[in-house]
Amino acid sequence: MEVLGLKGICKSFNGQAILKDIDLSIQKGEVVSIIGPSGSGKSTLLRCINLLEVPDQGEIKLEGEMVKFQANKEGKLTLFGRKRVSPYRSKVGMVFQHFNLWTHKTVLENIIEGPTKVNKMPKAEAVQLAKELLHKVGLADKINSHPSELSGGQQQRIAIARALAMNPSVLLFDEATSALDPELVGEVLKLMIELAEGGMTMIVVTHEMKFAEKVSDRVVFMDKGAIVKSGKPEEVFYCTDQPRLSSFLQRIHAV
Ligand code: ADP
Ligand code: MG
Repeated sequence: MEVLGLKGICKSFNGQAILKDIDLSIQKGEVVSIIGPSGSGKSTLLRCINLLEVPDQGEIKLEGEMVKFQANKEGKLTLFGRKRVSPYRSKVGMVFQHFNLWTHKTVLENIIEGPTKVNKMPKAEAVQLAKELLHKVGLADKINSHPSELSGGQQQRIAIARALAMNPSVLLFDEATSALDPELVGEVLKLMIELAEGGMTMIVVTHEMKFAEKVSDRVVFMDKGAIVKSGKPEEVFYCTDQPRLSSFLQRIHAV
């Protein structure tokens, strides 16, 4: 079953095409890694999926339902549009490179904010959910800590728990381990692997080629705003007929 379907997504900034006619279909439980050079449009694609950016053109379907988005002249969602977008966005979780936790809130407050404010979950229920999720990410003892008291790896695991609290249909990761000290990368990757194995539908922008190769069902290579190659990990990592992909893989010594 298709969870997320993108058709003909285009996005320009200042007259420059950043996403060019992107088609992508993500099935339930699928883990798709997106790789590609810096500046190829990977973050913009995730931001368009989450409607943090409004695509100039194209269609987005979530669980079979067409998402209606509407931008004003400045490219911002109109109030009318934003109201309609809120329930959609709550189904599309996002994990950022720099965690983006609310620094003045505790771990618990970070996690229950979305469920109580957006999903109107009663507070007691949200607290219970937060406790379960903290247990799942191995940080039950940090419930009353502030983000600044946690390591980068712990903050990212909290950010993942916060995203999971919205019970998303699909979870987007934008270089979730890139800002971490090397010795902290493993704990976040381990959690991402657990989620993948638990059947979570995930789109993962990553430079972790081992993760892309071993964990994902499909790898998508983007370059200059377009999908150049998409296929099973072995089809992408051992592909020889795409010069731009070959030179990217050579540059990062992936294989
Ligand atoms: P990647 O994540 O693959 O490194 P990005 O999607 O971040 O690439 O960026 C692709 C291109 O789009 C870059 O040239 C970047 O400067 C440009 N870009 C991204 N967001 C904006 C924005 N809000 N305004 C102007 N240019 C942008
Ligand atoms: Mg990026």
